[in-house]
Amino acid sequence: MTVKENLKLIEKRISDVCNRTARNKSDITIIAVTKYVSIDRTKEAVQAGVVHLGENRNEGFLEKREALGDKPVWHFIGSLQTRKVKNVIDKIDYLHSLDRLPLASEIQKRATKKVKCFIQVNASGESAKHGLDPQELLGFLKGLEPYTSIEVVGLMTMAPLTENQDVIRGSFRALKELQKNVQALDLPFAPCKELSMGMSNDFEIAIEEGATYIRLGTSLVGKDE
Ligand SMILES: *Cc1c(COP(=O)(O)O)cnc(C)c1O
Repeated sequence: MTVKENLKLIEKRISDVCNRTARNKSDITIIAVTKYVSIDRTKEAVQAGVVHLGENRNEGFLEKREALGDKPVWHFIGSLQTRKVKNVIDKIDYLHSLDRLPLASEIQKRATKKVKCFIQVNASGESAKHGLDPQELLGFLKGLEPYTSIEVVGLMTMAPLTENQDVIRGSFRALKELQKNVQALDLPFAPCKELSMGMSNDFEIAIEEGATYIRLGTSLVGKDE
């Protein structure tokens, strides 16, 4: 299938969820996750009208960023090693994986402009996942105050690997609750208006639970073998 065909099907599914949950379609941004596919396929996505692109590894990110330039909006969605920050930070529009203060400190040191960050939270409490423990979130936020180049635009999570829809929904709902707690702090550097949650297999549940950015790889651009 072409990206254009996939995009049409996905947009229809998004419309359907929005209609039944009284959400506004324009509040949901699709990020095409291109980590599994070639530069050509990524270009095809941009030609199909995709504006936001996501990569989870340095090498893949730099390669695609080099080939496609700064016209797309670039999302770094994987965990970022502190020592790699200097190579990528000024080329990233949104970082989805802020989860530790040393990373914030390195960003502060290297970035020449403000960086829009999502704090990644391990909302499901699965130990193997990256992301902050929910109990650590508020303390972490306060610790971010000195790092003036960081703007906390929202929270990000990955649902646990399970077929159980209730468990998946529970992790998205937990993230929404945490967002409310963050917003109640009213920190100038953390408006936290966005929720990055939902992938190919669970984006409809994520939208029902309040996602504003969904990250779609397989269902949108596919997966090269
Ligand atoms: C790979 C990846 C995605 C996309 O996964 P699909 O299931 O193929 O849609 C989304 N978010 C993150 C953080 C990823 O690493």
